Amino acid sequence: MEKQDYYKVLGVAKDASDRDIKKAYRKLALKYHPDHNPDNPEAEEKFKLAAEAYEVLRDADKRRVYDTYGHAGLSGQGFSGFSGLDDIFSQFGDLFGDLLGGRGGRRSRGPARGADLRYDMRITFEEAVKGTSRQIEIPRHKRCGTCDGSGAAPGTEPQNCTTCQGRGQVFHQQGFFTLTTTCPRCKGAGVTIADPCKTCKGTGRERTIREVTVKIPAGVATGTRLRLRNEGELSEGGGPPGDLYVFLSVDDSDVFHRDGADVHLPLEISFVQAALGTTIDIPTLDDEKYALEIPAGSQPGDRIALRSMGIPSLNRRGRGDLIVHLKVTVPKTLDDQSRQFLEDFARHNAIQAGSVVPTAPNTDEPADDAPNAQA
Ligand SMILES: [Zn+2]
Ligand SMILES: [Zn+2]
Repeated sequence: MEKQDYYKVLGVAKDASDRDIKKAYRKLALKYHPDHNPDNPEAEEKFKLAAEAYEVLRDADKRRVYDTYGHAGLSGQGFSGFSGLDDIFSQFGDLFGDLLGGRGGRRSRGPARGADLRYDMRITFEEAVKGTSRQIEIPRHKRCGTCDGSGAAPGTEPQNCTTCQGRGQVFHQQGFFTLTTTCPRCKGAGVTIADPCKTCKGTGRERTIREVTVKIPAGVATGTRLRLRNEGELSEGGGPPGDLYVFLSVDDSDVFHRDGADVHLPLEISFVQAALGTTIDIPTLDDEKYALEIPAGSQPGDRIALRSMGIPSLNRRGRGDLIVHLKVTVPKTLDDQSRQFLEDFARHNAIQAGSVVPTAPNTDEPADDAPNAQA
């Protein structure tokens, strides 16, 4: 697209002073400001172009480059204008004061959202694993049913405020600057109500308890935050409602230890079961009895991982693992017959009374009797 001459854009002469450039830009920016030209792409384009021209011509160095080499010189320096309106507001917002909604802010673009609300919810381990849905009650405001939110008594209508012509703001010219203040008559609402609704006393809102159904996906954990769009507080100015955030805390399980999507299950087995191998019914998250095969010769601390039998992963597909930790128990007392069996077992396996099983020496640490390094 052919770039327009920045001096022509601002409507100033080539030798215009900084002051004239600023004044010309300000006039154009106010005229084409998006708040005054809602849904007008042509005005927005002009607003952007004026900002671009001002960005160059207000800067002595950039202006010199532009005067000498034109647009090509600027693009050689990496200048390419503004990418969006927010860029412009953050750059020049303070030039317009309140008319642009304060220091570069955009709050004058339509009424504010309603407040976000927080609800703390405690759920069981099982609910977190399987997912659930809960009905909760949220105290908040709703649009007044009598006046449908207008605040005016049925049969009457709010009137455009005659002081501000419905803008909600009034302008005062003070020398070079235009000052803006909230309209004293309508308090910024832009309308006045001659005959207020009796239900809501003209506020357009009434208190209510709203029942909200919260769907809790499988795999949530303590600290998971669910966001329910538009279920927050009603906006006071007719803007969109806020959001509702549900903060979850999940109870621990009596049986399983959770580690992310994996769950751990400690399982006690007798030393005989470990030696011979066996099949034991264990609980799993799917609450059916699962026949776990324990191989012969299992050792204390052995882990048996059951793949994809853990908790569903909240963000990724699939499930974690269920990991069974074998705790091998040794009887503390023996009856006579058991003692006899074990003594036979020892004899049969040539286990000597009082013999010691040597373990591999730890080579990392010097032995106690290592020679001292004395000279
Ligand atoms: Zn007003
Ligand atoms: Zn009402």
